[in-house]
Amino acid sequence: MTELRYLPDADDVTEFEATVTTATEEYIILDGTYFYPEGGGQPPDHGTIEWDGGSATIDDVWKDHGDVRHGVQSLDGDPPTEGTAVTCRIDEQRRRNLSRMHTAQHVVSRVVLDEFDASTAGNQVYAERSRIDFEPASFDDADLDRIEELSNTAIEADYGVTKEERPREQVEENVDEGRALLDMIPDHVDPLRVVAIEEFDMCPCGGTHADSLGELGGIEILDCTSKGENVERIEFTLDNLE
Ligand SMILES: [Zn+2]
Repeated sequence: MTELRYLPDADDVTEFEATVTTATEEYIILDGTYFYPEGGGQPPDHGTIEWDGGSATIDDVWKDHGDVRHGVQSLDGDPPTEGTAVTCRIDEQRRRNLSRMHTAQHVVSRVVLDEFDASTAGNQVYAERSRIDFEPASFDDADLDRIEELSNTAIEADYGVTKEERPREQVEENVDEGRALLDMIPDHVDPLRVVAIEEFDMCPCGGTHADSLGELGGIEILDCTSKGENVERIEFTLDNLE
């Protein structure tokens, strides 16, 4: 089992020490990691792992039966043996962009739920451009302007973002319908990691996020397309990506 050290609120750590539990030429497993493994609509971190006598560049990270596998893009030296101490560095710029984008997704999802009573049916965050599918929804140009304006109003208010574990029962009672796909989270997952944007929004989420909305800069809606009956896909970006 790899300890997910970025949870519940260490998503600003991008350099850390760890110990190898398994390594091949294809992947490295550590006792604990701050690398984010792909999931929940957020792509994996990139970075490097170094040890005495070798190093690896990492361009994919994924969960595998409780372990986190750090996919090796290129290897310098032999794979590290079990018990080797390693120094890990996450690509900070990519991580910051993904964290900002993911936080922006929460903002837009909240605005659309409040204004149009539409739930987030799916989302995919990228470092440059992200998307959210809403249902039931049918947005016109004025609606999209409104969503963009209200999202930017929330960003300008610079609400704080907190990440913490809460008992599942409490989350189930307090989360707004349409802001959590609780049925998709296995029953044994308790407590849940919750991301709260002051009084503005709260939902269970395992991704990485900014610490305050001011970090997002500003949201621009780029496109809106129909993805089937009553499903609308909004694409957006941020104006201060690195
Ligand atoms: Zn999230």
